[in-house]
Amino acid sequence: MTDTKIPDDHPRAKSLLAREKLINSYLKGIVAASGLIAHGRGEAFDYLLGEKTSKPALEAVEAAAAMFLTAKNPVISVNGNTAALVAEEVVKLANVTGSKIEVNLFYRSRARELAIKKLLEKARAREVLGVGKNASAKIPELSSERRRVDPRGILAADVVMVPLEDGDRTEALVKMGKKVIAVDLNPLSRTALKASITIVDNIVRSAPKLVETVEKLKNQDVGKCREILRNFDNRKNLAKSMILIRENLSNFAAERVAERGRAM
Ligand code: ATP
Repeated sequence: MTDTKIPDDHPRAKSLLAREKLINSYLKGIVAASGLIAHGRGEAFDYLLGEKTSKPALEAVEAAAAMFLTAKNPVISVNGNTAALVAEEVVKLANVTGSKIEVNLFYRSRARELAIKKLLEKARAREVLGVGKNASAKIPELSSERRRVDPRGILAADVVMVPLEDGDRTEALVKMGKKVIAVDLNPLSRTALKASITIVDNIVRSAPKLVETVEKLKNQDVGKCREILRNFDNRKNLAKSMILIRENLSNFAAERVAERGRAM
């Protein structure tokens, strides 16, 4: 285990803490080596997004909350990175939305499945699907280990949340007629483009926001959820995140030019 002390006042403390969590989870066999690389890609986009939850991300969070609340059989699919970063929020979200939790891994091994299950149970998950023989069904058109799903979970689900996912499985789930909620900092990824709703935000920030939004929306008429879903357009929402990145880059560039001007 690493025991590096990250000072609270370090300008990148949050980001460094997330890295520590991932490295320690990698050392415990929860996160795959490629999960560390995927996190790095996410961090790069987070920088460009200003490392805060944007307005379009909040709109997607609201739509995702509405989708959960109108679902008959929602499932939250959990991989190593998601478990390492937000196990407690996943359990809270499952409780407030009546969702099942299922482990689904690209690099599937019995040890990794069990380590993730243990972490989720420590976060008080009542049941964790998709482990061992329970992942007995297959998603058609997928050849990776991600095709293996639990017949009581993802196979039967109408809505599947897939945080930090790859594009192939998102596409396969959509082809099976399921609604897919993705969380992906990269608005250009295949996952982001294929999902029904893509929350372009760091899972560390958006998972608690999603729980909070479901709790608020739960007290309202179901008609409100349907209206939110009718008004949400994932392609337009992704475009807003792309425009935000462009604006942020222009602003960063303008600031550098202004600094240079002041220095002369
Ligand atoms: P695709 O197949 O969808 O084009 P990919 O090949 O990048 O994407 P993965 O390697 O599985 O797929 O990457 C997972 C995605 O998760 C990356 O796009 C990355 O931006 C995103 N990601 C990583 N960490 C986080 C995080 N903490 N919060 C949100 N998204 C994240």
